[in-house]
Amino acid sequence: MFTKKTVRDIDVRGKRVLLRADYNVSMDERGNITDDYRIQQSLPTVKYLLEQDARLIICSHLGRPKGKVVPSLSLAPVAKRLQELLGKHVEFVPDCVGEQVTKAANTLQPGHVLLLENVRFYPEEEANDEAFAKQLASLADVFVQDAFGVVHHGAVSVSELPKYMPAVAGPLLEKEVDTITSAMENPTRPLMAVVGGAKIADKLDVLHRFIEIADFIAIGGGMANTFLLAEGMHIGASLADKDDLPVAKEILAKAREKAKDGKFVFYLPQDGVVASKIDKAAPTRIADWSAHVIADIENYPKRPPHEASYIREHEMILDIGPFSAAFIAGAMQFAGTVVWNGTMGITEKAGLQGPVGPYAHGTDLLMEAMTGKFGHRPFSLVGGGDTVTYIEERGLADAFNHVSTGGGASLELMAGHKLPGVEALQNK
Ligand code: ADP
Ligand code: MG
Repeated sequence: MFTKKTVRDIDVRGKRVLLRADYNVSMDERGNITDDYRIQQSLPTVKYLLEQDARLIICSHLGRPKGKVVPSLSLAPVAKRLQELLGKHVEFVPDCVGEQVTKAANTLQPGHVLLLENVRFYPEEEANDEAFAKQLASLADVFVQDAFGVVHHGAVSVSELPKYMPAVAGPLLEKEVDTITSAMENPTRPLMAVVGGAKIADKLDVLHRFIEIADFIAIGGGMANTFLLAEGMHIGASLADKDDLPVAKEILAKAREKAKDGKFVFYLPQDGVVASKIDKAAPTRIADWSAHVIADIENYPKRPPHEASYIREHEMILDIGPFSAAFIAGAMQFAGTVVWNGTMGITEKAGLQGPVGPYAHGTDLLMEAMTGKFGHRPFSLVGGGDTVTYIEERGLADAFNHVSTGGGASLELMAGHKLPGVEALQNK
């Protein structure tokens, strides 16, 4: 249960409320918003506060301007989109502190919205600067934290503001924390974890936690390559992190130990889509190394690689193969809960074009399986920046039970870590 006070626990009527939202949206080169999922997700919070006649001042970051004014990372387009989605005027000021902002905040009427410029245009934001925190705090009576995507790192608008004003959680933050925590602590079993993406190092703690709590773990993406390498397989020019080999071996050993009771599976891909170039036009083939790496690591003996399983020196594994995808999708039909983080292959559209690129089929099949295409529909929870971006691109966000707005924060929470931005809020 969520133990922090939320906006529903306090009276915000007529008050000036500083809402920290996460409007870190994707934009194209021309400054058009390409994915407004995060704005959409903040609407219930914004609407609730406006219904309560709060004087609503919203702050957010966008991208990584590194403490400088970067015009392409202005929140002005977000103000416009928010206004469209809200059907209500959204005032925008091209700064987040200073005279102009103070004036706009002071004259703001109940039930009206003011969006401030990118807080990360000031280096003070990420330096936890006290004076900057006081300036921001002076704009409002109450602070509402609703930016789940940032609560895992300290910053003025995360862990400092609550020192200077009453601070509570917004409904989106509450929903994120509650959903992810209960899926990890009290899941409908069997609990299946699907972990992919680029690097083991990014997801080490999560992998350890899943080995402790999950019934089935399926590995895909670039990190699978490192595991395969740790298993002694030749992976050619595939992305793999040699520095991660020792931890990969540790995780495999821990998984093997747990699998001894016969009730736990740690599944590494047994086939993959390989190519010599990351290019839509480059030919691909399916490599099947199932004779080398084994599905149920305890019950199959490890055999040396045979000819067909070899990945040639110039080849890269870029997606899980059709057998592995089908096997994982099949296992999902028995899952009560699926927690997914990290794509199974390269899913970026850039340079690959088309709705499904040549290395996205594995991820696509798993999305279909997770969301009930084959009959059974487990509770599905997804986190991860690139993973969520892909789901959004495919227009599938509504098909899942929960698609997290926070990449790093969802991983921290899944790993069982405390989030400074949540800890800083008032207790119930
Ligand atoms: P998330 O942001 O969802 O947590 P990650 O950032 O860990 O996920 O991983 C996503 C990235 O991993 C994407 O950029 C994707 O292209 C890359 N990736 C996935 N599989 C592979 C692979 N086999 N080879 C190289 N890169 C991969
Ligand atoms: Mg990522």
